Amino acid sequence: MNWLDRIRPKGLTTSKTEKGNSVPEGLWKKCIKCQSPLYRPELERNLDVCPKCGYHMRIGARRRINIFLDEDGIREIGQDIEAIDRLKFKDVKKYTNNVVITGGEPLMWNMNPLTNELKLLGLKTHIETSGAYPLSGNWDWFCLSPKKNKLPIKEVYARADELKIIIHNNDDLRFAQEQAVNVSPDCKLYLQPEWSKREKMMPLIVDYVMKNPQWKVSLQTHKYLNIP
Ligand SMILES: [Zn+2]
Repeated sequence: MNWLDRIRPKGLTTSKTEKGNSVPEGLWKKCIKCQSPLYRPELERNLDVCPKCGYHMRIGARRRINIFLDEDGIREIGQDIEAIDRLKFKDVKKYTNNVVITGGEPLMWNMNPLTNELKLLGLKTHIETSGAYPLSGNWDWFCLSPKKNKLPIKEVYARADELKIIIHNNDDLRFAQEQAVNVSPDCKLYLQPEWSKREKMMPLIVDYVMKNPQWKVSLQTHKYLNIP
């Protein structure tokens, strides 16, 4: 069980999980009750009821609705409606208060549903992003880590609480300066040595930060501590 399953209230599933459950893994499925191997297309035609013993397979809400309604004339309403946490129930044991969403690239997806749910659970949401995709989500802390080959889109700079530039070489220090012009005055500025170049770049970064104290050094401490 991963941490998200642990903190997520029972009965709350994302559409992704639901989709995952209904996507066929193969052409055959074993009946849970009579153990007969069932041909999936046939099982689906039989509305997920085992033709051998009449057992009703577990199906998701979407499939249930689609089976129930006429094929044409389905019109979905209220897609924007979001859950309200009326009970404000808190689990006895807390896993963490902060959830950091990081790469790949989180903003390639609409982060609104996920951050809304995390907020309902009373958690703080942090993101680390290249900023190259449209803004979405509700964030307590926004770390912008631009990439040279795919720059942030304009609106993202103003949102950054933290600008973090990964330093592979000398030119990245120039890039850092160039990027810092775009963020708000109270945005924190960090230079982080790329892990494989750390021996070489660290002295240069330290030197730079001594001369430009608005910048601070950032380290991947988990790597120094051997935490995977
Ligand atoms: Zn059966």
